[in-house]
Amino acid sequence: MSAEPPLPPAASTEQRTVTAAVTEAVTYAAPCPDCGAVTDHHGVQTLLPDGRLRWDVESTCAACGSAFAACGGEPPGERRDQMLAAHGPAKLRIRTPPPTAAVIMRVLRATLGVDLASASARALSRRVLDGDCWGTLPETELLARRLRASGIDAVAERIPAAG
Ligand SMILES: [Zn+2]
Repeated sequence: MSAEPPLPPAASTEQRTVTAAVTEAVTYAAPCPDCGAVTDHHGVQTLLPDGRLRWDVESTCAACGSAFAACGGEPPGERRDQMLAAHGPAKLRIRTPPPTAAVIMRVLRATLGVDLASASARALSRRVLDGDCWGTLPETELLARRLRASGIDAVAERIPAAG
């Protein structure tokens, strides 16, 4: 019996170049802003090469032909939930934990905003180390990139959607 070669590691975003955009998209029905007819809207969350997250929505109304586009920083919670349900969340995995959580806390504060209280940064860095920090792929990839830029071996890994 010959030994099979080991399976390749689970797909991760590590192989992407650091400047690639990462996107996650959903389609949902919502009223047309002009005539109120329910029409398909397409929402896309993008991690831009410069490290910003963007949320874009566009639609062309099937009833009145009106085109609509909007962009903002964050998807509404309902759309974020839909992305997570449709594509599965991505988990942040630290492959080589640093000696202290301080550098992770620093990256989390810089990435998620300085308003983050130190207690919650500590709790969050603990979750990161425990492999319990996840979000949409663009969100998680952002954190993974920031951590890698700080010398921490971190990757964003897709968790398959249940069902
Ligand atoms: Zn319309």
